[in-house]
Amino acid sequence: MTKMPALSACHSDPATYPPGIAFMDGQYLPISEAKISVLDNGFLHSDATYDVVHVWKGAFFRLDDHLDRFFSGMEKLHMSIPFGRAEVIEILHNCVALSGLEDAYVEFICTRGTSPTFSRDPRDAVNRFIAFAIPFGSVANPEQMSRGLHAAITEFVRIPPSSVDPTVKNYHWLDLVKGLYAAYAQGAETAILLDANGNIAEGPGFNVFAVKDGKISTPKSGVLMGITRQTIFDLCAELQITCAAHDLAPSELRAADEVFVTSTAGGVMPVTKIDETSIGTGSVGPLTNEITEAYWRMHENDRFRQAIRYP
Ligand code: PLP
Repeated sequence: MTKMPALSACHSDPATYPPGIAFMDGQYLPISEAKISVLDNGFLHSDATYDVVHVWKGAFFRLDDHLDRFFSGMEKLHMSIPFGRAEVIEILHNCVALSGLEDAYVEFICTRGTSPTFSRDPRDAVNRFIAFAIPFGSVANPEQMSRGLHAAITEFVRIPPSSVDPTVKNYHWLDLVKGLYAAYAQGAETAILLDANGNIAEGPGFNVFAVKDGKISTPKSGVLMGITRQTIFDLCAELQITCAAHDLAPSELRAADEVFVTSTAGGVMPVTKIDETSIGTGSVGPLTNEITEAYWRMHENDRFRQAIRYP
């Protein structure tokens, strides 16, 4: 088991780092001191998997689902860490407790790590586990949350599932970052990428949903199976709203009554403009509002929340 150190608050250089606490190489550290080797293949080759869970009002939301995805990703990448599930849970609780944060963005990572001979064979590397808790972050800022994001559908294709398995949460983000710069160049705030068939895929850190005639749809494949995406399916079942996963053409998204995107970083976030087209009435729609309220209400349900254990 990991030992809880006598760190009481988030000591950080506010000019460079947000406040927060990290765990790496067996130690809890202020986030400003959590540094990775330049020889780690997670850094050199994006050879890593990770997950992000949030803490809201002092409790993790759907931690079990995030852990399932993380452990399954490690297995698919032939990675292993010297901690079992219970120990990872303990480390995550400790990072949040030490940070003193009520609402937090909690990331945990397994990198391929390093090998003493700088071997090209990934089997020679010692995998590294890192976790950290920093203040809750969102894809959309408060202004964008209330008036809706302006997104651009870029011509860029999200890295195809035949190249990188999107069900393994990964750092293959150069396509997403390229999309962001293209979006900024046309005055938009975020980007939506296509799949290899020209259908909607996903954006930088979020899944995409369209509402048409009271029914909700989202891309079926080629995307991360987001935990928030799953939450939308769960909520729709409860609220008796039809929600289906299928191919979604860019024209369908532009013609939707409402569009929203979902992420652990922010929850349900409205989109009211795509390229030059206003979506629906151009303001946040009623179904998006209903789902957003239900999403935050679900955080109070004991089935999905796990209160932070303070020592
Ligand atoms: N798609 C991508 C590429 C992501 O990186 C993320 C989250 O970071 C999502 C979708 C949304 O996933 P989740 O709801 O699990 O946060």
